[in-house]
Amino acid sequence: MKKCKGIGRAKGVSGCGKPSDRRQNGLCPVCLMEWATETEAGKLWKIQVFDPRVEKASLRADKERERELKDNLTDWRPKLQERVQEIARLVDIGLPCLALGYHAGRIHGGHIFSKGGNRTISLNLHNIHRQSAQSNHSHNDDGLMREKLMDEYGKGYYEFLSSMRQCPALKYTNQEYMNFYKLANDIANLLKKEGKNYGMEARIALRNEINLSLGIYPEKYCVYEHS
Ligand SMILES: [Zn+2]
Repeated sequence: MKKCKGIGRAKGVSGCGKPSDRRQNGLCPVCLMEWATETEAGKLWKIQVFDPRVEKASLRADKERERELKDNLTDWRPKLQERVQEIARLVDIGLPCLALGYHAGRIHGGHIFSKGGNRTISLNLHNIHRQSAQSNHSHNDDGLMREKLMDEYGKGYYEFLSSMRQCPALKYTNQEYMNFYKLANDIANLLKKEGKNYGMEARIALRNEINLSLGIYPEKYCVYEHS
């Protein structure tokens, strides 16, 4: 709180002298507006400084409202699904299709337990592994995916995945899915930037770690521990 008295561009203006914590050019809001409408120096300040500032703030508020509206109209769960599948793909990068064993031009994040029948666990990274686009589209390779998964990661891992189907249904709001999406986006970008190939243990560890960071599932469905 300082006394209202002109300084800077309002230097020499006496002001009302009352203490105020919202002073500009040393003047309280009342004296400021009086100065800005009744004196030449004040009018100039209003045109050069005050009006542009108000304009900027109002544009910013418009933009913010627009963005909020757009966020509310976006269905975030499918967008999150896409990002999580991309993360699985980045963790497995460089490896051949799990089902068919060949290096495909296009690799997807394919589900071990299909999205259709097991929607609840469709965002769990342990349930998503590299699969050629062709194999993923055929939908006949689900059995093959499970078989090859067991060959690569062991029976215990498959049993862990199987137990995930007990996971209670997810009850998140669209807003919460948006927050998960932003996190997943950051994680995918980080993996892309690192551009590494990961060994088998590291792939499990990364899936554990990223499941936990995303925080979509209870911990016991996030982390696989070797028996
Ligand atoms: Zn004043």
